[in-house]
Amino acid sequence: MEQRIERIKKQLHSQSYKLTPQREATVRVLLENEDDHLSAEDVYMLVKEKYPEIGLATVYRTLELLTELKIVDKINFGDGVSRYDLRQEGANHFHHHLVCIECGAVDEIQEDLLDDVEKIVETRWKFKIKDHRLTFHGICHRCQ
Ligand SMILES: [Zn+2]
Ligand SMILES: [Zn+2]
Ligand SMILES: [Zn+2]
Repeated sequence: MEQRIERIKKQLHSQSYKLTPQREATVRVLLENEDDHLSAEDVYMLVKEKYPEIGLATVYRTLELLTELKIVDKINFGDGVSRYDLRQEGANHFHHHLVCIECGAVDEIQEDLLDDVEKIVETRWKFKIKDHRLTFHGICHRCQ
């Protein structure tokens, strides 16, 4: 945890941003809830427990900054709510999601698995792929 915070701090510094205490609190909440897909409101409620004086706008700006720096990815599972997801360290492409239509659980696939598809798209459509979003909707192993 501390090492990852150190590395995120360095990423911010390299872009001339400081890891202020409020930003650090936001990063900690994301790290502590890494398996969840928290909305800005969720993050705000959790940060507020430690920093009661923090405002939603500050948390929101921090999340946008982390998104810009590719430390987190913003995702929408079709419910109109933006969620923030820590990017795996060293990952070039965003991981994939399995969304269960029965219980709402969101599982992750960290492997890219899309090399062949990406090659076809790049060749046939002359499209240089930078990233992707892939969400499967179905019934999870627990609900089957
Ligand atoms: Zn995820
Ligand atoms: Zn990929
Ligand atoms: Zn399920």
